[in-house]
Amino acid sequence: MSEDPVFKRVLIKLSGEALMGPLDYGTDPETVSAIAKQLKDVHDRGVEIAVVLGAGNIYRGLSEAAEGMDRATADYMGMLAIVLNALTLQDALEKLGVHTRVQSAITVSEVAEPYIRRRAMRHLEKGRIVIFAAGTGNPFFTSDTAAALRALEMHAEVLLMAKNGVEGIYTADPRTDPDAEFISEITARDALQRGLKVMDSTALSLCMDNHLNIHVFNMADDGNINRIVSGDRVGTLVTT
Ligand code: UDP
Repeated sequence: MSEDPVFKRVLIKLSGEALMGPLDYGTDPETVSAIAKQLKDVHDRGVEIAVVLGAGNIYRGLSEAAEGMDRATADYMGMLAIVLNALTLQDALEKLGVHTRVQSAITVSEVAEPYIRRRAMRHLEKGRIVIFAAGTGNPFFTSDTAAALRALEMHAEVLLMAKNGVEGIYTADPRTDPDAEFISEITARDALQRGLKVMDSTALSLCMDNHLNIHVFNMADDGNINRIVSGDRVGTLVTT
């Protein structure tokens, strides 16, 4: 990649599923190192990278709540599961020689820094990849909302929403509906009104109200983040 990056600072949202690879549960070491390599390639071009992780590969508060557990308790467990994913990704990045910091919204001071906005920004300026763990620190929220929130707090120019196995946003779920049509560009307002699966509505509203554009793309194609950062049209662009 020779072109200059069009973004100086990006926030990438990786769902827990992205770390799962071919497994049904947990983290696949090969998949995690492939993701770390992708992030390193973009980082090597001088782009500042913040990452927000989910934990769907380990735990999802909402489904546990449906099984009869108190929703808030289940959500706190989900946030702790995100910390596990954050340490996994940190390890993979550091194996490639990338400097990283994990900042957690729930205090786990033995393993991660607490979330301190200005400190996180300083890490980014110094060329460290910052991994934000434990979501927003609040139950009843999602890691998508954490991604929108941290992207705004960090003054990221764009939010990159990685999807697994789909190219972007469709009119319906392409995995179950053969008539689903791909959408290459849409406004956040339109996506919200049509209930399209970009991210949950709290996260999408936050992006819309604060004019943060979102690129939704397929993580399975390992050049995609680099292409987006080069200004190529990849996946779906959600404009605000
Ligand atoms: N979670 C939460 N508050 C947050 C972020 C996450 O309570 O701010 C919990 C919630 O239970 C969620 C789980 O952490 O189900 C894992 O996050 P998410 O489901 O968003 O992960 P993803 O789908 O991105 O893998």
